[in-house]
Amino acid sequence: MLKPNMHYAELKDSYLFYNIAQKTKKYLEEHPNTHLYRMGIGDVSLPLCDAVIKGLHRAADDQARAESFNGYMPECGAPFLREAVREHYKDYGVELETDEVFISSGASDELGDILDLFDCSNRSLIIEPAYPAYVDANMMGGRDIVHLPSSRENGFLPLPDEKTQAELIYICSPNNPTGAVFSREQLKKWVDFANKNGSVILFDAAYEAFIEDAELPHSIFEIEGARTCAIEICSLSKTAGFTGTRLGYTVIPKALERNGMNLNSMWVRNRTTKTNGVSYIIQRAACEVFTPEGQQQIHENIAVYKQNARTLMKALDELGIWYTGGKNAPYIWLECPNGMGSWEFFDLLLNEAQIVGTPGEGFGKCGEGYFRFSTFGSSEDTKTAAERLIALLK
Ligand code: PLP
Repeated sequence: MLKPNMHYAELKDSYLFYNIAQKTKKYLEEHPNTHLYRMGIGDVSLPLCDAVIKGLHRAADDQARAESFNGYMPECGAPFLREAVREHYKDYGVELETDEVFISSGASDELGDILDLFDCSNRSLIIEPAYPAYVDANMMGGRDIVHLPSSRENGFLPLPDEKTQAELIYICSPNNPTGAVFSREQLKKWVDFANKNGSVILFDAAYEAFIEDAELPHSIFEIEGARTCAIEICSLSKTAGFTGTRLGYTVIPKALERNGMNLNSMWVRNRTTKTNGVSYIIQRAACEVFTPEGQQQIHENIAVYKQNARTLMKALDELGIWYTGGKNAPYIWLECPNGMGSWEFFDLLLNEAQIVGTPGEGFGKCGEGYFRFSTFGSSEDTKTAAERLIALLK
């Protein structure tokens, strides 16, 4: 008899954002025509920048002519885009080879698929609060999870100690949901730990473009020793508004080997088996992000989200509510006022101010008592939401 993957039965009933969607849907059914101030899910509100739109049009025209038409793209990515990403890393002082860069259709896809490289007996360490997909993807594969809680005391940036044991280590920096960013010195501790213990770090850099403090690292490969212990997964979703357009990239150094196996070669084998690559049109358009014009335009969009962050932080300052993040990340992580639980605060904001945020508990047990605001909403909504927050909580 067919045996389904029974690990799916161990997954928690509903995914965080599904729960939020259900609650907001119910609210809207009971209060039709109400405008909600959506600062929950981390989806962008600004359209693609002009350089990317022009790139999309040009690439669509290429597909209309026999002489410029493209069929299947190389599974690991179009050479022109792999090269553009390689060049981009030079801005961070990181020298890569073109075939150390793999093009993907997004970080979520890669964060799940990359687990193919690792035996199910490996333990995955997840720093919590965490992006929920890490836990779920590991549970689906039946891996043991080592939950490493973080807290206000350690700035949500925990470090390994003599008790730490795990073969796979997830690091998300800048962090979703806390907005915390590991410094070079702190990352070096994780890199040294991984090299010493033969672990592999899965470094999620989906929010690197939001870093504004010059001394903070954008890539784990800025840290000495990372080439022998890390894989970096990145995305244009938030960097350039590609949430609906879909494009990411993954860096696997050729020096990364475990047990006589080369992880870069394994990933080539995996990709050439399991995907036929990302569409030509999207890869061409993605190249525009890495041009000087594209970089300027995406940073203009990021500046709008940064302004949203400042608007919300100002309101929280006025209310005397403790928070972190917002500066080098598009998320603000705050303590629920008056000792409220995070779903309790969610209900209060929805019912009394029509604001939708994300309860911290959804990112792991240690997120209870905290709340996340996304800064990806429109400027108008964010301004009004800040006023409503003040009116409700002052
Ligand atoms: N990693 C983190 C930490 C995220 O917050 C997200 C999306 O919110 C992703 C990865 C997924 O990005 P993508 O849209 O490229 O799948």
